Amino acid sequence: MIDVINLKKSFDNTTVLESINFSVKKGEVVCLIGPSGSGKTTLLRCLNLLEIPNSGAIKMGDDQLTFSERKFKKNKLLTLRKYSGMVFQGFHLFPHKTVMENIIEAPLIVKKQSKAKLIKQGEQLLEKVGMIDHKDKYPDSLSGGQQQRAAIARALMMEPAIMLFDEPTSALDPQLVREVLKVIEGLAKEGQTMVIVTHEMNFARRVADKVLFIDGGFIVEEGPPEQVLDNPSHKQTKTFLQLLD
Ligand code: ATP
Repeated sequence: MIDVINLKKSFDNTTVLESINFSVKKGEVVCLIGPSGSGKTTLLRCLNLLEIPNSGAIKMGDDQLTFSERKFKKNKLLTLRKYSGMVFQGFHLFPHKTVMENIIEAPLIVKKQSKAKLIKQGEQLLEKVGMIDHKDKYPDSLSGGQQQRAAIARALMMEPAIMLFDEPTSALDPQLVREVLKVIEGLAKEGQTMVIVTHEMNFARRVADKVLFIDGGFIVEEGPPEQVLDNPSHKQTKTFLQLLD
């Protein structure tokens, strides 16, 4: 589903991602962990093409984009971007639109479908994330957990092959974390392909098929959670996990 090949990303003269290589198979859940500033968000934003890598390549499905100093075709970038839906730390809902208006906004513009059909699809997704009773409310009347669940439904509306989550619970009060993680775990059970940046190690243990530990611009270690989280082979991984205890 995703192949990342020798991906490199710099900001001005600072290299954040040195050489990133990994694959995600269809239906797999991959959790990205690593110290603050190690480049996890940047990597996720590269997968969604919100950041343009300096070099390397990303393959999604049958489409591949190779980055270099030369210009690449913009339509190829849009093709690749359509593969993924992103959920951010801060929920980024439109404050002046209801939950339903928020979630049908993008598909109304992009998909050639009737509003009635999109509302029906929206209701099904809001049911799935436990938000159907809040469909006509505005974001500022919702808890952070409810806003994040609406944001998840919004991303799902575009039926992305891959869901990308950037620390989806880090802006939430502890008592609201569980309800959001439960929704993501439900998606995992349905076979949704996902890449999730998280600091919730117990969640990663439950949900991940593969954990990638990233540090210093490289993937230092990757493998199933019981290997990377409970029996890491690299000193950097051990040090990182000990600091979390
Ligand atoms: P955290 O866990 O704290 O969210 P992270 O692992 O997600 O960190 P990134 O947010 O990807 O790390 O940042 C990696 C590095 O890239 C940091 O040093 C950050 O300052 C730098 N960086 C990120 N975005 C930009 C930008 N737009 N311009 C300049 N530097 C940036």
